[in-house]
Amino acid sequence: RRRFSVEGLTKVFSTEEGQVRAVDDVSFTIEGDTFFTMLGPSGCGKTTTLRMIAGLETISEGRILSDGADFSRMNAFERNIGMVFQSYALFPHMTVFENAAYGLRLRRAPQATVDASVKRILAMLQLDGLAHRYPADLSGGQQQRVSIARALVYEPGMLLLDEPLANLDAKLRVEMRDEIRRLQKALGVMALYVTHDQEEAMAVSDTIAVFSKGRLMQVGAPFEIYARPASLFVADFIGKANFLPLRGDGASAATRSGVAFSGLARRAAGSNEADWFGPEAQAMLMVRPERMSLTPKAATGAGTLSGTVRRIQFLGTFVRYLIEAPDADRPVLIDRPAFVDGVVEGSAVDFGFAPEDAVLF
Ligand code: ADP
Ligand code: MG
Repeated sequence: RRRFSVEGLTKVFSTEEGQVRAVDDVSFTIEGDTFFTMLGPSGCGKTTTLRMIAGLETISEGRILSDGADFSRMNAFERNIGMVFQSYALFPHMTVFENAAYGLRLRRAPQATVDASVKRILAMLQLDGLAHRYPADLSGGQQQRVSIARALVYEPGMLLLDEPLANLDAKLRVEMRDEIRRLQKALGVMALYVTHDQEEAMAVSDTIAVFSKGRLMQVGAPFEIYARPASLFVADFIGKANFLPLRGDGASAATRSGVAFSGLARRAAGSNEADWFGPEAQAMLMVRPERMSLTPKAATGAGTLSGTVRRIQFLGTFVRYLIEAPDADRPVLIDRPAFVDGVVEGSAVDFGFAPEDAVLF
């Protein structure tokens, strides 16, 4: 079982404005045929990390290990990785066949091997009929398929993909992401994928590494990252989140929802996420929209959270309610599988959640 890891990986760029820590002390391990995704907003250091792994960028600090061997002592060729770029980066003067064959030609593979391998990979990517075309005569989706074929044809030990779907339209993006995952599993190749799109990351990944400002915030399976975010940044970046500030006045959201909370004061002072808290809030509860209950306001509303429905959005697979509530600084989102009887825009409502569905920050 193949094992790949980065340890304390750091990249400092020197610019006219001074030094930029683009990647800051990042460590993670990937094993076997795991589909591993680096996810984060633009500028958080994903591409720089990938480029250091590919050998296209020098390392400022840290190590990259592949089955115990030091990657940084190998040239890009010896690392035996396949790389797919957002821009496709196809050779315009070469046919689809020759583009796909490129890595094998570099490795001086015999013609019979080139023919057999290219034929096989073009078939896997449904490019059979296009072998003699030039990139300029292909659609964007077809060009991206060729770039994937080119990266996979020599059976690399690892596949690196940097926002490979960013230039495709929405429907094709969903088709291609499923296909990339299917191919990756069929070939049993380790994948290191980069995207800023959290939905795409959740759909394709075995493991997601969430980045912010060059730092690794959390690593976990999609469900773990979503249900148990380790920080407010991750909670807010992945999916939709409701934040209910706890003001510790005994009438706060937590008390009335039956959430037992101890040690709040400890979290409040000195929290490195102080920006997130209002002036009085001592802590914050995070609850996902689909984990919240919603009912018309009861005559005796004591013991629950309540508010007013500002907007109801029918979104096909669910209905989203936007609630204005004194217990929240932002509108509370509640997603229900169907319309709730007796609740219309302007209604007074009660809402709540099970204590185990709340994450305390
Ligand atoms: P991402 O791929 O997550 O959008 P990048 O890795 O491209 O992020 O960039 C991370 C940070 O490093 C950004 O602040 C970017 O401006 C900076 N950066 C990237 N490449 C260079 C470079 N060659 N010189 C100086 N700064 C760079
Ligand atoms: Mg990038």
